[in-house]
Amino acid sequence: MSAINLLDLDGPALEELVASLGERPYRARQLKRWIHRHGAGDVDSMTDLARSLRQKLQGRAVISAPAIISESVAPDATRKWLLSVGAKDAVEAVYIPELDRATLCISTQAGCAVNCVFCSTGKQGFSRNLTTGEIVGQLWLAEHSLRRRGQQQWTEGPSDGAQTGAPARFERIISNVVLMGMGEPLQNYDAVLPALRLMLDDDAYGLSRRRLTLSTAGMVPQIDRLAQDCPVALAVSLHAPDDALRDTLVPLNRKYPLRELMAACRRYLRSAPRDFITFEYVMLDGVNDSDQHARQLVRLVDGLPCKFNLIPFNPFPGATVRRSSPQRIQEFAARLTAAGIVTTTRKTRGDQIDAACGQLAGAVDDRTGSAGRASGSRARAVPLRVAP
Ligand code: SAH
Ligand code: SF4
Repeated sequence: MSAINLLDLDGPALEELVASLGERPYRARQLKRWIHRHGAGDVDSMTDLARSLRQKLQGRAVISAPAIISESVAPDATRKWLLSVGAKDAVEAVYIPELDRATLCISTQAGCAVNCVFCSTGKQGFSRNLTTGEIVGQLWLAEHSLRRRGQQQWTEGPSDGAQTGAPARFERIISNVVLMGMGEPLQNYDAVLPALRLMLDDDAYGLSRRRLTLSTAGMVPQIDRLAQDCPVALAVSLHAPDDALRDTLVPLNRKYPLRELMAACRRYLRSAPRDFITFEYVMLDGVNDSDQHARQLVRLVDGLPCKFNLIPFNPFPGATVRRSSPQRIQEFAARLTAAGIVTTTRKTRGDQIDAACGQLAGAVDDRTGSAGRASGSRARAVPLRVAP
């Protein structure tokens, strides 16, 4: 029997595990704290865990995060980890420190099946879903390796370790998590959900729902499920104001057209932790960036509380589209703003290390192969380049 990876287990699953070992439920909370708060890498180091439980876990359970293939730091302090998730697959996590927050951008799939025209991940094709442990393991790795480097002091509150139920006071390095790395998170719903729950759990990472953002290309049924199961901040990759154009840029639109997507956004707002939806809009020269497109967008989102985040297209080898000029982006933003829509333009961070949106693992080979995705061809070996 292969060992259980404790990173795969959220609170209820840890409780089940300790119950199956004949232990009291509070042991699950202890385990969770050791693993996620303290970054314990093995059961041996959990010094205040009953010896009996440690012995039972010995050989049966491991704490296994994706292995680091390489780590690169850009001049703007953006840090990218290239992580191995099995012999053929690699994904990336990106840490973006700012003055008032530190964001970790994590991946949910190796490759992506949605195949948006402007996305290097999509161009690689889909290889496989990440497990919960591989998803939350990116946060575990980043948080604890940055802490060990002494990036920031970590102070434990008085209640930590005691079973008082009072939340411990502690500081984290990573204040925000965005599911905006490789993959479409809502096409890996069953593994993403426990990972989100762990990120929110006070005994694990204790993020607030407002600081945890899931970005989707528009999986309508799963947007509704997320609203019920675990409403976190929602970002929707819009990229076009009408179905004809969106069909070509985001092929998923053919399945879930704009009318359905907009309706799902409205429904989501009833349980969302923020009172708006963020729309991401990649700025593509001559494709979706005209004044006419801006006017159409204003009409499309009429009456829907939202903000726009314009993303200057990040190029990658073989891309068939170009970035809009800074002036065009500014004018486009001004039109949305004039219509009363809060609009920001994303700063391109980490592009020197290919860590900007849509560039992730841009240096790996095309996985689709000549047979293409339609035939269901699987990924072949991916040679990896370590970014400078
Ligand atoms: N699959 C999800 C989340 C990952 S992509 C989604 O599509 O929302 C995260 C964001 O990066 C999305 O808004 C996506 O459209 C954008 N993006 C992808 N490729 C890009 C590129 N080359 N330049 C700029 N943004 C890109
Ligand atoms: Fe997949 Fe998102 Fe890239 Fe589209 S933009 S191919 S949904 S990762």
